[in-house]
Amino acid sequence: MTTVLNPARPKIKVLNEVGRYAIGVQWADGHDSIYPLENLRRRCPCVACRGHIDGELPPASQRLKHLARMGDSAMFIGWADGHETLYTNAQLRALCRCAHCVAEPERPITG
Ligand SMILES: [Zn+2]
Ligand SMILES: [Zn+2]
Repeated sequence: MTTVLNPARPKIKVLNEVGRYAIGVQWADGHDSIYPLENLRRRCPCVACRGHIDGELPPASQRLKHLARMGDSAMFIGWADGHETLYTNAQLRALCRCAHCVAEPERPITG
């Protein structure tokens, strides 16, 4: 096996809170992402939220209570309102809205 990174299975190197309203991810391939908590909650991929929440989000629904990596392939968020969100690394990486990712020419158009 080689150590070439598979872009379809990005790995999180560092996961940390950025202030009160965002989290930061350093990926193993050197990429850096910042995710506002509100976006992460609105895009929650669980069966109840289905990746899309419209309208007002109560403050407790955007407040982080627990943040953890789940092995090498996912990230868990526990919210102050009791909701739980699990993002696979691939889902999380696809949400990155940095200039590089948004401008990626070969990136498939979604949503
Ligand atoms: Zn959800
Ligand atoms: Zn990016």
